[in-house]
Amino acid sequence: MSGHAAASGTSVLRADELWKSFGERDVLRGVSVSLAAHEVVALIGSSGSGKSTLLRCLGLLEPIDDGRIWLGDLDISDPRVDGNRVRARLGAVFQSYNLFPHLSVLDNVTLASRVVHRMPRARAEERAHDLLARVGLAEFAAAHPDRLSGGQQQRAAIVRAIATDPEVLLLDEITSALDPELVGEVLELVRALAAEGTTILMATHEMAFARDVADRVVFLDDGVIVEEGTAASVFAAPQHPRTQAFLSRFS
Ligand code: ADP
Ligand code: MG
Repeated sequence: MSGHAAASGTSVLRADELWKSFGERDVLRGVSVSLAAHEVVALIGSSGSGKSTLLRCLGLLEPIDDGRIWLGDLDISDPRVDGNRVRARLGAVFQSYNLFPHLSVLDNVTLASRVVHRMPRARAEERAHDLLARVGLAEFAAAHPDRLSGGQQQRAAIVRAIATDPEVLLLDEITSALDPELVGEVLELVRALAAEGTTILMATHEMAFARDVADRVVFLDDGVIVEEGTAASVFAAPQHPRTQAFLSRFS
């Protein structure tokens, strides 16, 4: 491991030279990425390029082989850190299967606040009701997730992720399992959170959305970031042939 002694400066989340392999396959090959406070970064790239693995490593849901990850000025890749405490400072939403099926929507949303953050139930539920109302799910608080549409479930999953005021929201293709008519309602919620200043790293195949909402775009190709820049510059004039080839599929 190289000597990254420096703290993270002003970044909320920063990865330095992450390496990750599964068996013989190097899935992340020296990935460095950082998120400034209130920044929205879109992670794009072909299927299999390593986007989910990167998000899972950053969220301490997957161990890395080499490199460093900083959350604020804490080196969260240090094996001595308490992973549960770190994960409690992050919010994550995945493609599907986010909510606990045996719990009501309200209990899904309040679980981490009550159990991990030791918030009194009444306060956690008050906050959950506020958030659910904000995303149009007030009437589903007592329902179980299977009563909700896919889009409603993803909105509830986002509410659950933000209920604990995470420092960073990690979103992994949260609309890709949805029927097309349900995508918009989920993206609108992400757009609202971005506008409020939530720090977000999102893997997405929604290029129009990424171009619109992201401050910065990172293009991952076979485990390597081959290009990054402002959303405007990367989409308007991609520099790397791999980025050009990838983006041409969406135009
Ligand atoms: P993306 O999200 O960009 O589609 P992934 O991070 O899911 O890419 O996958 C990158 C590569 O890592 C793929 O080749 C995938 O098969 C492999 N991979 C991901 N997770 C695992 C795992 N748990 N075990 C073995 N291989 C994995
Ligand atoms: Mg993925």
